Amino acid sequence: MEKISVEKTASRGIAVAKVLKYLQPDLTASAGMIADGQAEEEKGKFAAAKAAVMKELEALTSKNEIFAAHLEIAGDFALQDGVEAKISDEHKNVQLALQDTIEEFAALFEVMDDDYMRERAADVRDIGKRLMAELKGVTLPDLGSIRTETIVAAKDLYPSDTVQIDPQFVKGILTEEGGVTSHVSILAKSMNIPILVGVSGILSKLTDGMTVCMDAGKGIIVTDPDDATLAEYQAAREAYEKECERLKSLRDKPAVTKEGKRIFLCANVGNAEGIKQALPMNIDGVGLFRSEFLYMENTHFPTEEEQFAVYKEAAELIPQELTIRTLDIGGDKSLSYFTFEEEENPFLGWRAIRISLDMKDMFKTQLRAILRASAYGKIRIMFPMIISVEELRQAKEITRECMRELSAEQIPYDEKIEMGMMMETPASVLLAEEFAKEADFFSIGTNDLTQYLLAVDRGNKKIADRYDYFHPAVIKAIGEIIRAGHQEGIKVGMCGEMAGDARAVPQLLKLGLDEFSMSAGSVDYVREQVLQL
Ligand code: PEP
Ligand code: MG
Repeated sequence: MEKISVEKTASRGIAVAKVLKYLQPDLTASAGMIADGQAEEEKGKFAAAKAAVMKELEALTSKNEIFAAHLEIAGDFALQDGVEAKISDEHKNVQLALQDTIEEFAALFEVMDDDYMRERAADVRDIGKRLMAELKGVTLPDLGSIRTETIVAAKDLYPSDTVQIDPQFVKGILTEEGGVTSHVSILAKSMNIPILVGVSGILSKLTDGMTVCMDAGKGIIVTDPDDATLAEYQAAREAYEKECERLKSLRDKPAVTKEGKRIFLCANVGNAEGIKQALPMNIDGVGLFRSEFLYMENTHFPTEEEQFAVYKEAAELIPQELTIRTLDIGGDKSLSYFTFEEEENPFLGWRAIRISLDMKDMFKTQLRAILRASAYGKIRIMFPMIISVEELRQAKEITRECMRELSAEQIPYDEKIEMGMMMETPASVLLAEEFAKEADFFSIGTNDLTQYLLAVDRGNKKIADRYDYFHPAVIKAIGEIIRAGHQEGIKVGMCGEMAGDARAVPQLLKLGLDEFSMSAGSVDYVREQVLQL
């Protein structure tokens, strides 16, 4: 038994379960050429691997359409011909032949003009990984296939890994890398999964199947607990569940401070499922719909129809405001079907509104879908990472262009739809007065605002103790944004993780924040604070 303390925590909950280490195996081909008579044997190995992979993919197809596309690629005879030619003509062993063929295939897709075809390169590489794992006799980890109560431990998880997780079975997450506002933390919290990130060396202390207790709120992990400790954590888990029940009883009360100010408590979600999970908390709306998850869960840039269906469903689910943030990709959020050029500083790079403004057709597809859905509920549009008034004007003008198109096509939309912006860059703070004249609302993104104001990477565990949204510079910036917004009579909300931190409520109320938008799991705690003040 060993007790490990983690300094920085951001989620709540207690988990007791067996651990599974999520490790990526080494999939580089073993080097080696073959003798003349060995070709048939190597080809036989490939045929067997292909058959096994196809069977695996057939079983997965019912779960996610990604796998149907992968099945098609795996069955492609050109791929098989390529591998076989390298075995016969170039005398490469099957692993080398596969590795080279996959790279050639992927490179072919990458230079194509058509976006959709170019995006297939990532799928080809994914298939290559599956085939290579089969040839090497190693098992590829698959978070989506976990079907017993488990705590997942990993070096790091990416949003594309996390979206596969089923919270019914994944009871806790431990990672060696990452910070409390990295996207894996946010996603885990939105699914109400206790998570501890930046736990150095945790993987070396765990073996698969070992029982682990974790208290995410206190930042404690106990590996291989003795009976007394196990009983203690099981009791703590029950007590936590009881406390959750107590807080539930406050849900009927609207969040009004003792001074009589009505505060709006909203949820941050990534899809319609997230809204369904948040509705029982008696939320006052959705303050942040992270539309990028719709893009990340797909095999291609979602079409206007696909997006319209999702936004319409979301708008119909929530009677109050639904704030849809336009695509905020880049930074640590990538797409399996789109190759981002490698950047030295991705968080200072090509992300969010920068991509949307550069890829206007893609942006318009999203805006048209949002506008069409606005005929079915109270939607607001929010632009991320804005640094200049010109950018905001440009984004609004493209939205109006879409409105004109829809009007000409006689497609209904909300002509008075509000267009607001995330306040998450230092430039947005310094220009808050100017922005307040042109934006319909502000939403403070403290996750990025903190990292950019303090020059502290939100995902770097080495400097995690310096990442602090209570830093006086951040508090001052928040105060300035609220002041500037109120001066022009616009509503100011917050959708960064700080809004869900019950400790921050007194200060944020004092500064005059109108709307708190947070992971569904935090709403009860923030409501309790608001009611007490
Ligand atoms: C933020 O930066 O605070 C925010 C809400 O956006 P994201 O965490 O998605 O970058
Ligand atoms: Mg942000």
